[in-house]
Amino acid sequence: MALEKTLVLLKPCAVQRGIMGEVLNRFEKKGLRVCGMKMMQLTDALLSEHYAHLSEKPFFQRVKDSMMTAPVVALALEGVDAIEAVRTIVGPTTGRKAPAGTIRGDYSMSFQENIVHASDSPETAAVELRRFFAPGEIFDYKLAYFDFLYANDEF
Ligand code: ADP
Repeated sequence: MALEKTLVLLKPCAVQRGIMGEVLNRFEKKGLRVCGMKMMQLTDALLSEHYAHLSEKPFFQRVKDSMMTAPVVALALEGVDAIEAVRTIVGPTTGRKAPAGTIRGDYSMSFQENIVHASDSPETAAVELRRFFAPGEIFDYKLAYFDFLYANDEF
């Protein structure tokens, strides 16, 4: 158990469908601390880096194009085991197969337009947080209700 930070992107489909607030609300209500948040227009160069693991896939360019159709909202979220906890809330990649109750399961019918990106490992989270946030854009305040989120030997 460790206090971790992870990166989430609210994708252009979330921005355009007017569900930014609802999706952010799910992370807040879970008890994740929002330690960074900003709207950004992504570029092909940044997306080629971000989705480098998909560069051999036939849908690589299509995914990048979709991520540039509107700005995204980048979130840095913190909590105990936050990387795995956020992936659980987000659900598997394909929206129409994702379980109800997950963000993708509740808001998406698509494998591509699946509402959010979330880092999938501690190594990826560290790299992705640096990719989307400058050090001064991550804020270390204490949540007023932190003492009610965890037992004191949980972090
Ligand atoms: P995840 O976002 O669940 O970590 P990946 O890293 O494998 O999944 O893929 C990155 C993104 O590429 C997905 O969120 C989705 O938008 C898109 N994608 C993945 N697989 C496909 C596919 N078969 N067809 C179209 N887009 C896809």
